[in-house]
Amino acid sequence: MKEKSGKRIKYIVVTGGVMSGLGKGITAASIGRILKDKGYEVVPIKIDPYINIDAGTMNPFQHGEVFVLKDGTEVDLDLGHYERFVDVELSREHNITTGVVYLSVIEKERRGEYLGQTVQIIPHVTDEIKRRIRSVAERSGADICIVEIGGTVGDIESMPFLEAVRQMKGEEHPDDFLLVHVTLVPTTLSGEQKTKPTQHSVKELRELGLQPDIIVCRCKERLREETKAKIAMFCNVEKEAVISAPDTDDIYKVPLLLDEEGISAYIMLRLRLLPRKHDDSWRVMVERAERATKKVRIAIVGKYTKLEDSYISIKEALKHAAMALDCKVEPIWVEAEDLEPMSDEDVSNFFEKAKVQGILVPGGFGVRGAEGKIKAMKYARERKVPFLGLCFGFQLAVVEFARNVLGLKDANSSELNPETPHPVVTLLPEQRNVKNLGGTMRLGDYKVTIKENTLAEKVYGKKEIYERHRHRYEVNPEYVEALEQAGLVFSGTCDGRMEILELPQDQDEGGEKEWHPFFFATQFHPEFKSRPGRPSPPFKAFLEAALSQAAGDDASPEG
Ligand code: GLN
Repeated sequence: MKEKSGKRIKYIVVTGGVMSGLGKGITAASIGRILKDKGYEVVPIKIDPYINIDAGTMNPFQHGEVFVLKDGTEVDLDLGHYERFVDVELSREHNITTGVVYLSVIEKERRGEYLGQTVQIIPHVTDEIKRRIRSVAERSGADICIVEIGGTVGDIESMPFLEAVRQMKGEEHPDDFLLVHVTLVPTTLSGEQKTKPTQHSVKELRELGLQPDIIVCRCKERLREETKAKIAMFCNVEKEAVISAPDTDDIYKVPLLLDEEGISAYIMLRLRLLPRKHDDSWRVMVERAERATKKVRIAIVGKYTKLEDSYISIKEALKHAAMALDCKVEPIWVEAEDLEPMSDEDVSNFFEKAKVQGILVPGGFGVRGAEGKIKAMKYARERKVPFLGLCFGFQLAVVEFARNVLGLKDANSSELNPETPHPVVTLLPEQRNVKNLGGTMRLGDYKVTIKENTLAEKVYGKKEIYERHRHRYEVNPEYVEALEQAGLVFSGTCDGRMEILELPQDQDEGGEKEWHPFFFATQFHPEFKSRPGRPSPPFKAFLEAALSQAAGDDASPEG
C-alpha cells in the first residue's frame, strides 16, 4: 500500500498462457492505450525472463527486431509496441530482465549488503524484482503501471517474477492490483470454441498462488456467450471479465476491439476509477485508415525478409505515414541476396514488373545481401525511383555513389571488406579495438543539425532533431569532400559525423549534377520514433514522393 508522491499507483500485471506468440504485448499495450484515452497516465514495464542483460546481442531471427530506446538501451520489440500504443518514451529501467535482477543481487551480495545471510530466490531475488517495479512506477508519476511478464506461465524462467507478483498482490490494496491473463481459445473444424487450454493454463497460475481477475482470450472470432460462461465458471472469474480478442488485420484495432468487449469498464470498476475523459482520436484515426483506398507499393530490400518481425518498426512507421496520407502501403519484401546474381537490366525488370513506387533499404549488418542492396540503390538512383535508406541503407548508398558516380570502383565499407583501398564507410579510431560486444555501438538519441535549404530541412521543418542510433561504422570524413563535389549532399551532421544524405531535387542548369525526386538516407533509425498519428517525417516524405511517382510526375527514366 505505497503512497509516495501523494498518489497510490495501480498495477495491472499481464501474464500469458497456453503458448507464446499470442500477442500478449499488443494486449498489454492496448490496455495502456485505452486507459490513457480515459485520462490516466500509464507507465509500462516489460519483464523478459531471459538471462541476457538486454536484447542487444540477440539474433533477430530468434526474437524479431531489436528496438532501441532513447537512452540507447537495446530491447525486445514489445517495448516498441508500448511506445507506439501509449505514445511514451521509455528507458532502460522499463525493461527488467532476469540478467538485470540477478546482476544487481549478486553485486549487492559482493558488497556485503545482505549482512551474511544466505542469498536466495525468495526473498532476495523476489524483493529485488518488486523493488524495481515499484521504483519505476513511483518515479514515473503515472496513475497506472502495466507490468507485462514475458514468456508463458509454467516456464521455469518466469517463476521468480510470478512469485514476486504474487507477493505484491498481497501487499498492495485490493483496489490497486489486477491480474490479466492472456490465453488461447482455439476453434475446431466444426466451429466449436475449446476452453480446455484456457482452463489448464489458469490452473497452472492458481498452482502458483495467482488467480486472474480478467482473462483475455485470443480467438478467431468473438467468443460465444456460452463459451464465456464456461470459462468464467471453470476459471472462477466474472463473465464480464472474460474478454474476446478476435483476430484482426490491423493491430491498431485491438484497443477498440477490447474496449467494445467491455475491458475498460471492467478494469475501471475493479480499480475503482472513473473516466476522466473520453478521447476518441484513436478510433477516428483507425477508421480513417480503414477507409483509405489509395495504395502505394514499396519494396523493402533486406536480409531477414522471411521473418517480417525483424523489420516491425519499419513496417509500423510506413503504416503511420500511410495513415497520414490516406493510403495503404503494399510492402514487397525483397531478399537482397536474390538481386546479387542479376544484371542491372534484370534488376530494372524485376522492380518494374513488381511496379514498385519506392525502394526502402533498412538497417543491417554484414556481407550477405549487401551487394544486392547496392544494386537496388543504383536502380533507384538512376531510374529516379523514390529511395529511403536507413542506417546500413545510408552507408551502402554512400558506397554506391562512390563507386558509380565518383568512379571509385572498389569503394566499400570496411565492415564488408576490411582491405578495401577506398573505405568510404569505416570505423572511427575510437571504435577500433573495442572488444565488449555490448559496448561498441553508437546507441540512442543524438542531436542532428540540419543544413539550410536542403530536402532534410523540408522533410523535418526544423534545424535540429533528435533521432535514435544503432551503428558502429561511419562515413569516412576523408571522402566527404569528394563525395559532395560529385553531387551527394550531406544535409545532416552530428559532431562532424555524417547523419543524413540526399540528392538535390532540382536539376542544375548544365544538367551535369545528379538530381533525384527523392533520394534520402539517414545514419539514424527514424522508424523508432514514429507513432500512429505522428508519423516519422522521412517516412511521410518518402511515401508522398512514391505516391506522386504513381501519378507519373517524376517518372522520367534515364540511363
Ligand atoms: N552495420 C552497420 C554498422 O554497424 C549498420 C548498422 C545498422 O544498420 N543498424 O554501422
